Amino acid sequence: MLTKVNSGVANGPRLSKALSGVIGEAINRRTFFKRTGLTAAGIAAASTVSLVRTKKAQAAVSADAGDVKKVTSVCTHCSVGCGVIAEVKNGVWVGQEADFDSPINLGGHCAKGASVREHAIGERRVKYPMKLEGGKWKRMSWEDAINEVGDRLGKIRESLGPDSVYWLGSAKHNNEQAYLFRKFAAFWGTNNVDHQARICHSTTVAGVANTWGYGAMTNSFNDIHNSKAMFLIGSNPAEAHPVAVQHILKAKEKNNAPLIVCDPRFTRTAAHADEYVRFRSGSDVALIWGIIWHIFKNKWEDTKFIQQRVYGIEDIRTEVAKWTPEETERVTGVPGKQLERVARLMAKNRPGTVVWCMGGTQHTNGNNNTRAYCILQLVLGNMGVSGGGTNIFRGHDNVQGATDMCVLSHSLPGYYGLKTGSWKHWSRVWGVDYDYMLSRFKTKKLMESKGIPVSRWIDGVLIPKDKIDQPENVKGMVFWGHAPNSQTRLPEMKKAMEQLDTMVIIDPYPTVSAVLSDRTDGVYLLPAATQFETYGSVTASNRSLQWRDKIVEPLFESKPDHEIMYLFAKKFGFDAEMFKQIKVNGTEPFIEDITREFNGGMWTIGYTGQSPERIRKHMKYRHTFDKTTLKANGGPCDGETFGLPWPCWGTPEMGHPGTHILYDPSKPVAEGGLNFRARFGVEHEGNNLLAEGSYPVNSEIKDGYPEFTMAMLKKLGWDKDLTAEERAAIEKVAGDKTNWKTDLSGGIQRVAIKHGCSPFGNAKARAKVWTFPDPVPLHREPLYAPDRSLVKDYPTYKDKQAYRLPTMYESIQKNDFSKEFPIILTSGRLVEYEGGGEETRSNPWLAELQQDMFAEINPFDANNANIRADDMIWVHSPEGGKVKVKALITERVGRGVVFMPFHFGGVFQGKDLRSKYPEHADPYVIGESSNTCGTYGYDSVTQMQETKVTLCRIERA
Ligand code: SF4
Repeated sequence: MLTKVNSGVANGPRLSKALSGVIGEAINRRTFFKRTGLTAAGIAAASTVSLVRTKKAQAAVSADAGDVKKVTSVCTHCSVGCGVIAEVKNGVWVGQEADFDSPINLGGHCAKGASVREHAIGERRVKYPMKLEGGKWKRMSWEDAINEVGDRLGKIRESLGPDSVYWLGSAKHNNEQAYLFRKFAAFWGTNNVDHQARICHSTTVAGVANTWGYGAMTNSFNDIHNSKAMFLIGSNPAEAHPVAVQHILKAKEKNNAPLIVCDPRFTRTAAHADEYVRFRSGSDVALIWGIIWHIFKNKWEDTKFIQQRVYGIEDIRTEVAKWTPEETERVTGVPGKQLERVARLMAKNRPGTVVWCMGGTQHTNGNNNTRAYCILQLVLGNMGVSGGGTNIFRGHDNVQGATDMCVLSHSLPGYYGLKTGSWKHWSRVWGVDYDYMLSRFKTKKLMESKGIPVSRWIDGVLIPKDKIDQPENVKGMVFWGHAPNSQTRLPEMKKAMEQLDTMVIIDPYPTVSAVLSDRTDGVYLLPAATQFETYGSVTASNRSLQWRDKIVEPLFESKPDHEIMYLFAKKFGFDAEMFKQIKVNGTEPFIEDITREFNGGMWTIGYTGQSPERIRKHMKYRHTFDKTTLKANGGPCDGETFGLPWPCWGTPEMGHPGTHILYDPSKPVAEGGLNFRARFGVEHEGNNLLAEGSYPVNSEIKDGYPEFTMAMLKKLGWDKDLTAEERAAIEKVAGDKTNWKTDLSGGIQRVAIKHGCSPFGNAKARAKVWTFPDPVPLHREPLYAPDRSLVKDYPTYKDKQAYRLPTMYESIQKNDFSKEFPIILTSGRLVEYEGGGEETRSNPWLAELQQDMFAEINPFDANNANIRADDMIWVHSPEGGKVKVKALITERVGRGVVFMPFHFGGVFQGKDLRSKYPEHADPYVIGESSNTCGTYGYDSVTQMQETKVTLCRIERA
């Protein structure tokens, strides 16, 4: 998986081939940079890259090895969480190796991880604060920058209200910074705060949490070693999560586990599949129901599991009965015979795991897709078992953590929501008066109403204010670690940027925000340090927390994000209240105090037991953890699971080992066992929602039960187990009404677990979510639908108001775009780049590997359009956007489908924007953004954008 490069010259012919036609000779990296007009600094950076190669530490250190210090960190690109060992000499990061002791990556790295040193020391970073003045980037001091930006945003707050400034956070922040950022937005007085999770897995979080309790990966990468079958849908880990593939391949080898890959595109992952299912983009629900149809027909379902632990399966049966092989094939394009084979593979090889990523989530009915995947696992009885589960691979390195910290417009940290009680809980944790928090908002209604999601911030600017549910439009945007090109509707985004009063970009690299609009003033660019120049915790996709140590001091004039947050809080005058319980060294808040503060409040998901000391201990003794069970075998962490995956119940002193596998009743809760969460009441329409005869080992209640409260402890007579301090703390919150989520002492959790019970109760999973627009997941055609006959049978939703904004569904779908735009357009990732790509395209190692933005086109469509390999083509979108890209003609995509990667930026509708970047901060590789052709469309529950299916037209440029 690591792309091998030797002595600074690309092994593969790609670079030379791409350029030799132009310059008449094969060239090396140095010549390339020179001839493409890059600077001496760029060449110097390129010439040092050999130090970054994955190697044994010994090889990197020479005679003076004694001077080299090794620092442990974690890759900052994807959520697999691969360990990185940095070699530091005299404060300079001189080399790196993959962490061979990490139970997660076992010494493996992909190309991105193998070059993270370049990410930190990159020459293309933003080096000092700047502002755009008269169309030119002008250097400023930090003091002036904080003052000027603070004055401008403060003025907007004063004149238009706090909701007119949007605080856009990041999955690149560590947990402490993400938590602080959400807290910062609360103190500013708005819920207009969000981050990338909205546009990657929000439909997963909502769908999964509403099915069985928590919105996260249920098992782990390592646990896949125990899978007997693997079902991947809309997931391409060979490119998006490369090191995860080693775990998948292990199951293939060890268990002969069949790998089933369902994807409209024959991906690099599909190349490993035993069964590749090519289905039509956006027909996931139909596909899953088509598979379950065979399971029900052959009575392969797990009836005992369903009876004990699943609610609403009869309604699923009714819906599934409609998905005969013929109808499924009409909608998905997949023959019934193949789906029968898939159903049989899953039924005969249990437990099997289901993996999905953005191919499944980014749809207007994404929440239906994620719930359908869950139901497949519930029907097979594959939940709560090792080797089973829903292994939902997250995206950015800390997107799981930033989601848990709820850098989200609809919740406070730990998924507490926005109700009065939630605000009171967090006010208690923060040590501030609830009335003070209330005073920060324009109204109580706004304080308790979901803010605008990041997917729609442009509508917060562009839609007339009388149509939005807040007093004024958004006028100030703060992009704090966010790449705008990962979002759809870029032509409209450009307009929105031009209508803002103030734009602030805080990032180690400039991002496309710095160049997309035609603004000449009112844009500020502040240099943030990378995660390698600070320290703190990060949560991998499997819910394990790891600790990064600081490798080097912040480079250039950059500052760590939490310090910048403090400087702004001070400027706005709420520093004293906000940092009441957090020590500040000079201007840098003390990270460990922040960890301890969220430990003290996030009882809902068990982020309470992972103190900085415990996480650090796990990092130090990571070699003692088993590579499959993730359980320490002896040593100081004996019996604990690596990274104390949440829920890690109670206080750190209680010593809960973390929960490796969610909802697994085969273990006591005290040892990481669980059951489904009682989150939705005890009955629905007269039916019992609690588990029946299923409970974790050692549970003293041998049946289902509701979530724990003080009153319930009293009824059971278990309150006598509380200490006097715990009792006093419980009394202070709400007496008998205090529950397991609001008890700041952790006593209720401790006592419930002492008696073998799950603090959150013991219920059935919901196959039917009666609170959602489609209680039973339904297939619905995408807004830009390729087949009108299917629209008639499977229409989208009615237009509605959501998250403060009018949201269109049927008013778009009713128009037939399919004649003028006959090709399905979908998008995805490349192994070399991450997210919006600015960081990775600024990394010479990676930039060399993938230099052209392209579109994959099936030969049939290419020939019909008279397009040949490497021709430049235009891809046109029905909303008027267009991109000029290179044609890659391949059978990877089926007829009538075009695929584009979404990591490129710096070219807009044929126009090269390189000259608009600050000097020496332009990425090595620029290209058109696929999302210039990304169209309107938002999930009916979460406002996830629909990037995985729209329409386009292609033509030779
Ligand atoms: Fe591991 Fe992901 Fe980093 Fe690659 S990008 S090294 S898979 S964490």
